[in-house]
Amino acid sequence: MLRIALDMDEVLADTARAELAWLHQRYGSRWSPDALVGKQLADLLPPAHAAALDAVLHEGTFFADLPVMPGAVEVVARLVEHHQVFVVSAATEYPASCVPKFTWLRRHFPFIRPEQIVFCGDKTIVAADHLVDDNAHRFAGFRGELLLFDSPHNAGVQGYPRVRGWADVARRFLTAAP
Ligand SMILES: [Mg+2]
Repeated sequence: MLRIALDMDEVLADTARAELAWLHQRYGSRWSPDALVGKQLADLLPPAHAAALDAVLHEGTFFADLPVMPGAVEVVARLVEHHQVFVVSAATEYPASCVPKFTWLRRHFPFIRPEQIVFCGDKTIVAADHLVDDNAHRFAGFRGELLLFDSPHNAGVQGYPRVRGWADVARRFLTAAP
């Protein structure tokens, strides 16, 4: 049995899709998939749009209604049967997101118990064998293995094993499972 930590944004939740939808609704802007490769969305936006989006994220309720990443529910439901699974989110970056994120997890992942949910700042405090996360740069001091969850923004990141979606996570951790 492994201890596996799972990130929320861009891993369990398709936060980027919701952000792009918000930008389209608010400003009519559209971003092609190619434009997002290797870039953080905030770096592409006009400063006023980036500030408005950041204000929405700080308000918190945005995180209550995010789409679930395809395949996440099915694979995590099986992961918890075979491994010790924790959801680990750097939620203190947006303090008001904590309750919406908790509510979202209980709604979509009811098989993850509250004590398996960790909201923190610096994830290097977490002791796990594996961390599945889309952001490598923030977690250089993590002591376990970081599995980089594929996302347009991290396309150029090297040096970590990469998982391309939840089916890939399942192949990695459930191959010996019945
Ligand atoms: Mg993330």
